[in-house]
Amino acid sequence: MDMGTTISPAVLILLGPPGAGKGTQARMLEERFGLVQLSTGDLLRAAVAAGTKAGKAAKAVMEAGELVSDQIVIDILRDRLSAADCANGVILDGFPRTTVQAQALDDLLAESRQQINTAISLDVDDAAMVKRISGRFTCGGCGEGFHDSFKPPVKDGVCDKCGSTDMKRRADDNAETVGARLEAYHAQTAPLIAYYGDKGVLKSIDAMGEIDTIAANMATLVDQATS
Ligand SMILES: [Zn+2]
Repeated sequence: MDMGTTISPAVLILLGPPGAGKGTQARMLEERFGLVQLSTGDLLRAAVAAGTKAGKAAKAVMEAGELVSDQIVIDILRDRLSAADCANGVILDGFPRTTVQAQALDDLLAESRQQINTAISLDVDDAAMVKRISGRFTCGGCGEGFHDSFKPPVKDGVCDKCGSTDMKRRADDNAETVGARLEAYHAQTAPLIAYYGDKGVLKSIDAMGEIDTIAANMATLVDQATS
């Protein structure tokens, strides 16, 4: 690989499990670096709505109840990357998910003498993440958020703000579901972590700290990767 080639625009990949704050961090990168976050779902919807060649192909496949092929996603991505608003670079979210897709993405970028700048992995402590997510609950009366460990109501089961006792927990926020989600994430992502590690473009960020600290560390990484 020719590492001396000037890379522009920047192409970043964000890897992180649900609950790691990927959305928050991506928005920060958009604001600070003028990057555009591209998620697979948004890409597909936009291409279908715009009626591009690849969008029409995607629409036909989805209407038949089938999965959109990697090739169609790559074609949509090729169209999207050439749009004016992507001139500063993009953050890919949700693609690639497999090493086959990662290879296809590398081939696509090579067409325009580009390559991935950096793949950023938001690392979490699984046990702490389970505790963080499964402890959340919300007041059904006023919407105030609480947490079993980090922000319990002063009086057990009673909202500090409005006095309601109607506390709600999201069904999928229980420990088993969160644990299973993290396990699935690690199983799916491990090959990608290895793929980008081998290419020397993988960076890891501790995603368990304060949002501002994570954002600052992220900004430093992106600065290094894009300068
Ligand atoms: Zn309340």
